[in-house]
Amino acid sequence: MKAPAFDYIRARSLAEVFDLLEEHGDSAKLLAGGQSLLAALNMRLSSPKLLIDITRLSGLSEITVRDSAVTIGALTTHAALERSPEIRQRLPLLAQAAPHIAHAAIRNVGTFGGSLALADPAAEWPACCVALDAQFVIGGKTGTRKIAARAFFKGLYETALRPGEVLTHVEIPVPGPDYRSAFVELAQRRGDYAIVGLAAVAKVARGTISDLRLAFLGVASTPALARKAMAAMEGRRAGDAAAAAKALEQDFSPVADLYSSAATKMQLARVLTGRALSALGA
Ligand code: FAD
Repeated sequence: MKAPAFDYIRARSLAEVFDLLEEHGDSAKLLAGGQSLLAALNMRLSSPKLLIDITRLSGLSEITVRDSAVTIGALTTHAALERSPEIRQRLPLLAQAAPHIAHAAIRNVGTFGGSLALADPAAEWPACCVALDAQFVIGGKTGTRKIAARAFFKGLYETALRPGEVLTHVEIPVPGPDYRSAFVELAQRRGDYAIVGLAAVAKVARGTISDLRLAFLGVASTPALARKAMAAMEGRRAGDAAAAAKALEQDFSPVADLYSSAATKMQLARVLTGRALSALGA
């Protein structure tokens, strides 16, 4: 199938984007990497009258390290994050997750902000941002606001973005020197969306876990923070993963998809919990 006809404007500034969004409302869509949007147009799942190309906006593609936080522009590509020495050093979870996103050709074009704004429940970046306690910077005609990643994802492909708003940056606190991270996922084939995945961050001191964050993808309509499993591991050795795996049942009841039942997903979540904790403790 081919996309329905649409008008196209390449925006030169954020101010212009805000004006266009105000003028055209729901009939306009932002175009970032286009890796999800163009597929949706071609399948006629979406039929905007206007595409506002934001890819040439300046100041939205940088990775900036400041004090104890890293700021990532919404237009930063998956590949740029994958290759960045700053990201590898300060936010290794993102470097660990990036190779799991689609294929190299898609990672070269798809953007961090596009993935977060789309809020696919099986996407890697939303879960990483929840695990890392990121803050999302959102711009609009009336100014800028910040919202925690944990409050941003509202439902299936649904976020806290309001009409006329653009996700511009993501601020991520750099975990302290005793913190480790692990990203694990299971997919049908390398490059496919995950069946289940897990972004894990914890403080590990002499093999003992504290401040554990376990953010799952693919088990619910939004990234799922497994709070009971996280609490069950506080003060335990990384090898005691059984406590966390057992507690998972109180955290979520996975949603079945076309390929995997809810029970299969729960079993995969337990397996990934063991793998992630063992990687954190290694
Ligand atoms: P676009 O497609 O341009 O936009 C997506 C949506 O977000 C649109 O509604 C757009 O209007 C909106 N939007 C974009 N930027 C902003 C912004 N800054 N503020 C507000 N709204 C915005 N992704 C994964 O995470 N994991 C995978 O395994 C994976 N596999 C894939 C496999 C294939 C074959 C394909 C085609 C894609 C896959 N993707 C996967 C999706 C890919 O990561 C996309 O790059 C990403 O989901 C969207 O980013 P984009 O920059 O292409 O956004």
